[in-house]
Amino acid sequence: MIFRKEILLIFYILTAVMKIKLPKLHNQILIALIAGAIFGSIFNVSRTALIISYKAIDETKTISIRDWKKFSFVSEGMTFDSISFKAHQQIEIINYFKKVQASDRKVSIILEKYFSTEADGKFDFSILPNVILVNKEKTIATKIKWLGDIFIRLLTMIAIPLVLGSLTVGAASLGDIKKFARIGGKTISFYLVTTSIAISIGLVAANLIQPGKRMNVETKERLLSVYSKDVEVKIGTAEEYNFIDEIVKLIPKNPFAAIANAEMLQIVLFALMLGLVLSLIPKSKGEPVIKFFDGLSEAMIKMVDLIMLIAPIGVFALISATVGEFGFDILQTLFWYVAAVLFGLFTHTLGTYTLIVKLFSKIKLSTFFKGMRKAQTIAFSTSSSAATLPVNMECCQENLGVSKSITSFVLPLGATINMDGTALYQGVAAVFIAQVFGMDLNFMQQLTIVLTATLASIGTAPVPGVGIIMLIIVLKSVGIPEEGIALILGVDRILDMCRTITNITGDAAVAVAVASSEGELLHPDLKNA
Ligand code: ASP
Repeated sequence: MIFRKEILLIFYILTAVMKIKLPKLHNQILIALIAGAIFGSIFNVSRTALIISYKAIDETKTISIRDWKKFSFVSEGMTFDSISFKAHQQIEIINYFKKVQASDRKVSIILEKYFSTEADGKFDFSILPNVILVNKEKTIATKIKWLGDIFIRLLTMIAIPLVLGSLTVGAASLGDIKKFARIGGKTISFYLVTTSIAISIGLVAANLIQPGKRMNVETKERLLSVYSKDVEVKIGTAEEYNFIDEIVKLIPKNPFAAIANAEMLQIVLFALMLGLVLSLIPKSKGEPVIKFFDGLSEAMIKMVDLIMLIAPIGVFALISATVGEFGFDILQTLFWYVAAVLFGLFTHTLGTYTLIVKLFSKIKLSTFFKGMRKAQTIAFSTSSSAATLPVNMECCQENLGVSKSITSFVLPLGATINMDGTALYQGVAAVFIAQVFGMDLNFMQQLTIVLTATLASIGTAPVPGVGIIMLIIVLKSVGIPEEGIALILGVDRILDMCRTITNITGDAAVAVAVASSEGELLHPDLKNA
């Protein structure tokens, strides 16, 4: 046998590979996260290159351009647009194109390039007619984002049936109205108190660090112009806030429509009421319905186990696409603002939640934070409390020993209404923007921020990027210019990832405290205590 040696070698390698024990899932996810960040920073999207698609006669052509002397748009009717752009103005060009496109005008691009690389003064002109796309170039790091999207969509797919199923069962399992009111009261009080503490920490951090006063005028002007288009869109999405209206809107006219439109607060209200009345009607009628919802939520939790098998791939793809697309350089520009938000989030997550876990339960701190690792990594990579909910429920029940009924009541409620990280960031952002615009906020204004940010965080949907839309309401309440959100848009994604960790950790800390006060914390730590 000629290949005997080679075959043996392959056999040995295969058996060696099979003997390598894969690390535990949460470590695999952590490794994927770090590897994704490294991969994304290696295959970073260029900050200058653009890809342009245009229609020449009947053909669509796509080219990639990297360097130019002058970049001008010419709109239909040959009126020369006075705006021309330099090489570093990638985002301005893309935004300008979006504006022109929205106005339905046909545009061409005149590109004045250096003739040779030595920039010897000779230029070459190209005309790209009927432009249909102007965008950043993609790299392998951003091209694999779809793998991450599949992962987030799978987790989000579970969230609504899970919230409906588990909250209904959770509310029904509390047994009677008295217990329902007691546990509901405790949970909501904890949520309101922790959220107010979170915003206060945010306000203190922003007043201490004064990030707005450390920003120079040039950076301010640049950020305001670069993100002006995105701000228009965000301001358009933010609705007028009216407290009474919000209360009225809590009640779904049609619960099925609420489910179809993912109206989380309405689903929560319906599930709580349904669960409560199921425990009030005769057992023979209530029990089968409760069993149905119980089966539904169990099935959703089982589905999470399956989805988590691809978590390392999903996390890798999400992080590499985010780092590849946004890079870390914007973090430098907004260093003090980012520092104030992160300082606040750290203080709240490690300080306030430590206090809650220590004061209200006998669980060891290390058990709490270790038990939460998996949920925290998923929160960081998906930026969505809703997508993290199933994993958070699993962590609370299995690692922290919170009983099933408390988990199913406290966590889905928290994922929808309790957003400490979001509220904290809104506090910092409001003060930051005010500082940049030279406004000094007095005590009453800061108190108004505490109130509105608490309400806004309750109304924030547990999905990526909604915090910044709700921030507009907070800014309006104290008269800070809304267009100021342009200053912080560039770092919003990264901070969203971080604040989502705080959001879900807060829900778990409250679940531990409530469970402990009800004698429903079953972790082995307690047996030795
Ligand atoms: N992404 C956050 C969450 O889902 C909400 C936000 O702050 O935008 O918890």
